[in-house]
Amino acid sequence: MGLDTDTIRRDFPVLDRTVNDTPLVYLDNAATTHTPTQVYDTYDDYYSQYNANVHRGIHTLSHEASQAYEAAHDRLAAFIGADSREEMVFTKNTTEAMNLVAYGWGVNRLDAGDAIVTTEMEHHASLVTWQQIAEKTGADLRYIRVTADGTLDMDHARELIDDDVELVSVAHVSNVLGTINPVRELADLTHDHGGVILVDGAQSVPTRPVDVQSLDADFLAFSGHKMAGPTGIGCLYGKRGLLEEMEPFLFGGEMISHVTFDDSSWNDLPWKFEAGTPPIAEGIALAAAADYLNDIGMDAVRDHEAALARYFIDKLDARDDVEYYGPPGDVERSGLVSFNVDGVHGHDLSELLDNHGIAVRAGDHCTQPLHDILDIPGSVRASFYVYNTRDEIDRLLTALDDAQQQRDTLLSNHYHDLIADYYHNPTNPDGLTNATFRKHSAETSCGDEGEFHVRVDDTGRIEAMGFQSDSCAVSQAVASLLADHLTGANIDTLTDLDGTVEGLLDGDFPDMRRDCVVGPEEVLQAGAREHLIDT
Ligand code: PMP
Repeated sequence: MGLDTDTIRRDFPVLDRTVNDTPLVYLDNAATTHTPTQVYDTYDDYYSQYNANVHRGIHTLSHEASQAYEAAHDRLAAFIGADSREEMVFTKNTTEAMNLVAYGWGVNRLDAGDAIVTTEMEHHASLVTWQQIAEKTGADLRYIRVTADGTLDMDHARELIDDDVELVSVAHVSNVLGTINPVRELADLTHDHGGVILVDGAQSVPTRPVDVQSLDADFLAFSGHKMAGPTGIGCLYGKRGLLEEMEPFLFGGEMISHVTFDDSSWNDLPWKFEAGTPPIAEGIALAAAADYLNDIGMDAVRDHEAALARYFIDKLDARDDVEYYGPPGDVERSGLVSFNVDGVHGHDLSELLDNHGIAVRAGDHCTQPLHDILDIPGSVRASFYVYNTRDEIDRLLTALDDAQQQRDTLLSNHYHDLIADYYHNPTNPDGLTNATFRKHSAETSCGDEGEFHVRVDDTGRIEAMGFQSDSCAVSQAVASLLADHLTGANIDTLTDLDGTVEGLLDGDFPDMRRDCVVGPEEVLQAGAREHLIDT
């Protein structure tokens, strides 16, 4: 039987609000989920009844806070099948949990000659962390390939995981492809070669039953804010023996046992890794979130998500203007789908969906190398949770119909006429073949990417300007506007462009797109300065 979404939705008052005068459809759950009243009531109760520092006060409130905080560790440990609270460390989020393994275990353990294996589909939180550790320790960093259908190439995994490998770090569920990776198989392979495996559970722990025993995971990292819990809290599970061996990476407060002027010793697990005053209210509230999900049943959560993803993918399969990424609909996948609509930049799409009250995420989702492999600057991601319904997906699909036309309406309604005109009649949008200099730009936060081309004659006069761009409509239009406006000017003009576009538009552009207006100016300015220094 499916989830009773009507009842569940009553626990999430935010779902009753409107956005742009239409009822909210929240499909950005892979970024952050909403929090039910049961969870923030716990928070409220903590602050109104027993807010106090833990393990430090000989008074009733501190005692009550300590008990609740310790019990929260027990409940989170049970949630993922850990043996005991000693194996459950509270951190700030998944990123910090993985960095704790990197700095507590990796830096002390790895050397030149060792290898770390990760995958091409990792979130930056893991990929960049292991890049840093490889650089610091001299260890070799290897990436398991992603196949064309968005799964891991397990033959390649078997090639890469050899006796040099000390650590394998893998996302259980990809936050872009929705792929569910074969963690147990990778764990067995890793253990056969004497290594340990860190599982990034940011997208799996909130959405499916995760049991560290059956996965045989050595470490598992996850975040509270993606599982109906609060922000500011995440967890690191570690097998007890590994955590005992591991060095703390933050010092002071809660993690101390005894200190002299010469030496210090550390508290017992898990407090050894929870320096300073820990996230007490957040930890207690996260345990309430785990209870909430347990009450629904994690099998039911998984099935609900999979059914919504399949429903959405079936609909996408029936249209020829949308490309989606990751395994096809008949392969089990998680409840998130990343896609692009022909001819509509993700940021424009996200904005026009917001006009329909629909929240999705657009950009590279902190997986730039994966987007390079997919050969796209970014994607739009719809991600579902326990409160989402087929009706909401239908609303998304309706909004996607005629997306191109809606984009044009968006441009003409929301922006200066000049922007709309330049978007439709761009100046040299294929760039220049004989440019005097070029300047490439990549906007890391949103995935916009482009290149200005400038041709200058012997007297320093700009003969022509053009651009090539994968950016959103506004960025492209602004690049075009600049190209037109600055042709014929002296190259020196380009070194001081601040406010030029704003002036041309009489300051008339929506604040939320300010970066798209200012960004092209900055890129062109930087390109001109570099050119003048070089010549
Ligand atoms: N890994 C994956 C797979 C994720 O999806 C995310 C969040 N987008 C993270 C790690 C990082 O999570 P947090 O920002 O909570 O540290």
